[in-house]
Amino acid sequence: MTLNKICVYCGSSDQAEAAHLEAASVLGRLMAEAGLTIVYGGGSAGSMGRLANGALENGGKVTGYIPGFMVDQEWAHHGITELHIVEDMHQRKDKMIEGTDAVVALPGGCGTFEELFETISLKRLGLYFGPIVLLNMDGFYDSFIQLFDRCIADRFMAPRHRDTWLAVTRPEDVIPAIRSADPWPQDARAFAALR
Ligand code: AMP
Repeated sequence: MTLNKICVYCGSSDQAEAAHLEAASVLGRLMAEAGLTIVYGGGSAGSMGRLANGALENGGKVTGYIPGFMVDQEWAHHGITELHIVEDMHQRKDKMIEGTDAVVALPGGCGTFEELFETISLKRLGLYFGPIVLLNMDGFYDSFIQLFDRCIADRFMAPRHRDTWLAVTRPEDVIPAIRSADPWPQDARAFAALR
């Protein structure tokens, strides 16, 4: 599969552990070196800013979608390749994944989780087909994965839905994981809960 645009969800906290901020920067650089366009939430703070700068400093392209109220708060990154101001959080999420080849979730806060949960849900419903890669650095997403295991054990989801995402432990493993991901089946059975 030829990769072009990759959506990245990540945290906006400047207070995050330095290792998380550094990982975002490294991923930005690696995406730039691979010629991939990053699509993200258009912010300048925390992992979001580090990701964007890591790419820009290495000749990469970065597209951001940010709602007007966040621009008013001066949260936007005005140095990125394309900054789109959207109506609200819903439109932002729609635009962020539109036409992307994969989604990556770095460690983050509730905003990152919300975006990740929505994309897993869309994939489960056959409305998104790209690989979804979790950067499970230092076990950050272990409890998230355990929650899905419980969900599957209690038969709210089928075991195959575990394949809606992949987890890797280092930023260096993200792009190879996207490239080697199995295609998500397009038949309706894959989308049903337990049938
Ligand atoms: P979180 O993972 O909770 O830090 O949230 C990251 C996501 O929350 C972003 O994609 C945005 O939806 C939103 N967000 C929260 N604070 C900011 C901020 N200061 N700048 C940009 N986006 C933010």
